[in-house]
Order: sequence, then C-alpha cells, then structure tokens
Amino acid sequence: MRLRNKPWAQDMIDDHPGIVVPDPENWKGKWKELFGNENPIHIEVGTGKGQFITEMSKLHPDINFIGIERQKSIVVSSIDKIKESGQENVRMMNVNAMELNQFFAENEVHRVYLNFSDPWPKARHEKRRLTYETFLQSYEAVLIPNGEVHLKTDNQGLFEYSLHSFSKYGMILNNVSLDLHNSDIEGNVMTEYEEKFSAKGNRIYRCEAVYRSK
Ligand code: SAM
Repeated sequence: MRLRNKPWAQDMIDDHPGIVVPDPENWKGKWKELFGNENPIHIEVGTGKGQFITEMSKLHPDINFIGIERQKSIVVSSIDKIKESGQENVRMMNVNAMELNQFFAENEVHRVYLNFSDPWPKARHEKRRLTYETFLQSYEAVLIPNGEVHLKTDNQGLFEYSLHSFSKYGMILNNVSLDLHNSDIEGNVMTEYEEKFSAKGNRIYRCEAVYRSK
C-alpha cells in the first residue's frame, strides 16, 4: 500500500475513540464489555482502508468485527467509512498484529481474516508474511478451539506459501478456490485491493484454514 504522509492522522485517530480503540491492551479478555454483547469476534489483520470490515459489519450484525492496521495513515481511511455506516459492531486497532496476544485473551476471537496481505516475496522476509509460523501461533493463542483463518489474495506465491504453511502447522484446509470470482462460494465481500486487482484481470485465490483442537 502506497503511504502518503498524513501528519494529521494521529489527531484524527484521537478524535475518534469510539472507532479506533485508544487503549486496546486494556480490553484484553473484556471485548464483550466494549461491544456490550456476547457475540463472536472476528478480526481482520491488515485491514487497509476498511471497506471489507465495514461491509461485513453491515451484513453480519450478530458478529463483532475488529480491524487491525498498523499504519496510522491508512487507519484514518477506515474512520469515515465506519462513521458513515453507523455500525456499532465494528472497531479498529492501530497496532502491529505481531503483538496480538497483548490485546486478546485465549479463546476470545472466533475467526481471523487475512485479505491481500503483503506478499514479502524475498526469502529473507519470510518471517514478515502474515501466514508465517509465528503469526499462526499468535492467531491460535487467541482463537477458540477449531478457530479459522480465512485468506484471500491475488498473489499466487503467497497463496502457495500459505497453503504449505497452514498444512505444515497441522491445520485443515476447507473451501479452497483458485478462482474465487468464478466459484460457487457465496457471500464474498470485496476489499479495496480485490476490486483493483480483479479489475486488472487477476485471479483471486481463497481458502479457509482450521486449527485442530488444542
Ligand atoms: N486488506 C486490505 C485490502 O485487501 O484492500 C489491505 C491490503 S494491504 C496490501 C496490506 C495491509 O496490511 C497494509 O495496510 C499494511 O499496513 C497492513 N499490515 C501488514 N502487516 C501488518 C501487521 N503485522 N499488523 C497490522 N497491519 C499490517
């Protein structure tokens, strides 16, 4: 994602504490209190500009969504979308997903979405890929037993790597599609990257990976 310097980003984040949670570590184990209900929590890691999470929150009012985006200049793009939607079941966190277990307790998250994650194609950057083993461990640490990671990307290299990484970790793969937009998988909500790359004719790869019981 191309970054524009937005010196006002922190001020905008600070002005919207009801959307970008200011002290997410204080809600560890207590997210149900923040949302005021017992609904399952789904997180999106690397939310980008927030189209997916906002649309998902409208389609699924019985799920609480939390978007995790480490770049301030990108988080701000999600604020207006969430504000306009008027949805109460969606929040953002401006943090690095590497530290996920500082923000969520065991069994607190029901599903993780990874959409068009940065591919980091160089072998020496493998550890930065959001499907690298250490990330799979952090997701597992906060997910319910048999929790799921749903991934989609147009990057064949990242997709193949991720299938391998999920399998090596002992996860079960479901609903794998090598061409999501021409598949019978229903209810797809497009992300900003998905719109851009599918308009260029790129194929979208998608899978669900399920943790085995702890
Ligand atoms: N999911 C969006 C979409 O499909 O339009 C954005 C895709 S963009 C290529 C990847 C995003 O993930 C970037 O905004 C980046 O800042 C964010 N990101 C990458 N690694 C992250 C991490 N460890 N923690 C939080 N966000 C991360």
